[in-house]
Amino acid sequence: GNIYLHRENSRGLNLNIQSQYQPFMEKVTAFKDHQWHGGPVVNGETLTTGQVNQVVSPQDLSHQVGHVYWADAEGIEQAIATAHNAFPNWSRTSVEMRASALEEFADLMEEHRHELIALCTLEGGKLLQDGIDEVREAVDFCRYYAQEARKLYAYEGPLMGPTGELNELFVQARGVFACISPWNFPLAIFTGQVVAALVTGNTVIAKPAEQTSLVAYRAVQLMLEAGIPGDAIQLLPGTGAEVGSKLSSDERICGICFTGSTVTAKAINRALAERDGAIATLIAETGGQNAMIVDSTALPEQVVQDVVHSAFTSAGQRCSALRVLYIQEDNAERVLDLLQGAMQELSVGDPIQYKTDVGPVIDEKAQQGLKDHIAAISEKGKVLGRAPMPQETEKGTFVQPVAVEISNINELDKEHFGPVLHVVKYKAKELNKVINDINGTGFGLTLGIHSRNESMAAYIADMVNVGNVYINRNQIGAVVGVQPFGGQGLSGTGPKAGGPHYLYRFITEKTRTNNI
Ligand code: NAP
Repeated sequence: GNIYLHRENSRGLNLNIQSQYQPFMEKVTAFKDHQWHGGPVVNGETLTTGQVNQVVSPQDLSHQVGHVYWADAEGIEQAIATAHNAFPNWSRTSVEMRASALEEFADLMEEHRHELIALCTLEGGKLLQDGIDEVREAVDFCRYYAQEARKLYAYEGPLMGPTGELNELFVQARGVFACISPWNFPLAIFTGQVVAALVTGNTVIAKPAEQTSLVAYRAVQLMLEAGIPGDAIQLLPGTGAEVGSKLSSDERICGICFTGSTVTAKAINRALAERDGAIATLIAETGGQNAMIVDSTALPEQVVQDVVHSAFTSAGQRCSALRVLYIQEDNAERVLDLLQGAMQELSVGDPIQYKTDVGPVIDEKAQQGLKDHIAAISEKGKVLGRAPMPQETEKGTFVQPVAVEISNINELDKEHFGPVLHVVKYKAKELNKVINDINGTGFGLTLGIHSRNESMAAYIADMVNVGNVYINRNQIGAVVGVQPFGGQGLSGTGPKAGGPHYLYRFITEKTRTNNI
């Protein structure tokens, strides 16, 4: 077929429409008491030898979701050896076969979407809408990378040269990729990394985040059902300290595709540099200290809607989430007044209820860290708004959404990954200082701008060093193929996920000269 055919993203659901809401809720809540089981998957088989870990829901720590076996040293070795041995065959299968397997996998995820959404909600504490978006993004990654891989491998590379000599350039897979993913997009990022590596012809060892191994396990089962051979995809649930560090120090791994914190990315980079063997590829998409700049021409009502959405959706646990709102003084009183009201309206609670706006944070460690941070900054700065906390939130790892005034972005020691919005007021003449301060953090993931002055918006967008800029809208929820996503500086290596250049880091090239 025509590889340049127009590709459509997956379709969403509008749960505000009763005829869509009713059947959706019935199918998802049918999984409410389901028990899931998972473990390492090596050569298509699930191992049940390592330590057993009980999985509980962040919104209700007494709710058991299932259990998962973590990979032990023997399982890790088997996985690396299997993926290593499978590489010569898998890399020589046709791109068409690999791309079609991804498309089959995407169809299967859509077929099982209610179960996957229930898992994202029960294991990962995500809202139903977040779960819907997870499945859509995972599906879009499969279809998009399938198409991009066909284009990449369709390249026929006869080059210029003297008569009698044939010069050609080929692309080829690199080897075994370790894909190490975070819990905050337990299906979408996990899938995006794995399918990008697979479709380009690499074999894969996937290490999901500890907290969300079950959804990763279900995804791998569906990959196998879709026809991806068992020796091409291995899954190793377990800790970063145990599984992650073994993968980054083993010379049979040709590259690591990582999404997570900047600190972990640096640890992996060091481990790769110190190991024996070839120089490894590292693709790292990491954290941010994301700002939004709101000038005096911005529309307060729209600003507040977009601020609340950017800062508190997914309980602020998105790498793109707004952390520091810069608001020009002339607009501050009105915006902050509306913000306080909007925060009062936020519904914090059980994510499986459709009315919920803010669910739990991922675990007790994250909850404690955020509470400590909020206590420390609220002592120094004025609290500008808080959401009400119903009693049911005591059962889980919830953090009260809060907005606090601070004096400068560099007061923040690190990325605080939760529902905490920091607010800084600035004077019009200080705009360049604001830009310098944001750039001075060294992070460069997302930036929001609210201004009706087009040249002002264009100036700010140009001057701030970030990967994704959003003007007069919220700054989260990048769409595959539409808003390729990824940061600069401390926020990531690129190339952008869901963009036309992403697959290039998974391949290498061979030039062949033939004196015919
Ligand atoms: P994390 O703590 O860095 O963990 C990410 C993954 O790395 C997990 O699977 C973790 O295992 C593993 N890991 C930990 N230490 C390791 C080591 N020494 N060697 C190898 N692997 C290791 O990040 P997180 O808390 O899961 O995720 C949140 C972070 O991800 C935030 O900083 C967020 O901004 C960032 N993020 C970035 C993007 C982006 O596109 N830029 C997207 C989403 C999230 P464990 O599960 O055992 O810890």
